[in-house]
Amino acid sequence: MKYPCCNNDIDKFEDKNNGLISINIYQEFNYNGKAGISVHRRTKVINAKHHISLLKIEDDNGKTHYVYIKDYDKLIGQQTNKTTNKLFHCRYCQHGFIRQDLLDNHVKRGCLSVEGQSVKLPDKGDVIGFLNENRKFKCPYVVYGDFECLTEKIENNEQQNTDKSYTTKYQNHTPTGFQLTVVDSERKIVDNILYRGSDCMEAFCKIIGEIEKDILNKLTKHWNVNN
Ligand SMILES: [Zn+2]
Repeated sequence: MKYPCCNNDIDKFEDKNNGLISINIYQEFNYNGKAGISVHRRTKVINAKHHISLLKIEDDNGKTHYVYIKDYDKLIGQQTNKTTNKLFHCRYCQHGFIRQDLLDNHVKRGCLSVEGQSVKLPDKGDVIGFLNENRKFKCPYVVYGDFECLTEKIENNEQQNTDKSYTTKYQNHTPTGFQLTVVDSERKIVDNILYRGSDCMEAFCKIIGEIEKDILNKLTKHWNVNN
């Protein structure tokens, strides 16, 4: 192995150790004047017997060095944890868990960062059933509606407290008309209503009630199959 080593060499080192050692490398970053720790190299070895976390640092001469991280949870916890309670962090996705057993479960089920997706097959003897039988039927009718409104300016002299967030009302949406289109399951338009007028809200409630009655009539009607 070459020294000083780069990520390729660490890949080889992990391969040669065959599941015994996994290595993550972290680095410091600066964003908007805030310092933090991010992953520089993430291991692909799952559940290695020993895991090592290293911090990559740069000295004044531009040379990089690796420093051993003794307590990874403490280091990463500074940016993920706002409480004083310790968090247990996943070495693959950096998510913090409040208990060790929750972290163990997360890794056992397959962390998404290494597995790509978590597959949970049903246990032996499990029966899978479909409950919502009614959703197998086509929706017999759909009503599409669209309202038109006039926007009217509002005079607003209310004094706002600019120390807090606030809303200024500047226009009113006054409904002036609507269109309703009833379509059946064969995509045929069975009704089309256009209404204009200042009383359109009352008219809408009345008309939608009539449409409902009409549809229920059609759906509950008994047809003679011989005709
Ligand atoms: Zn994870």
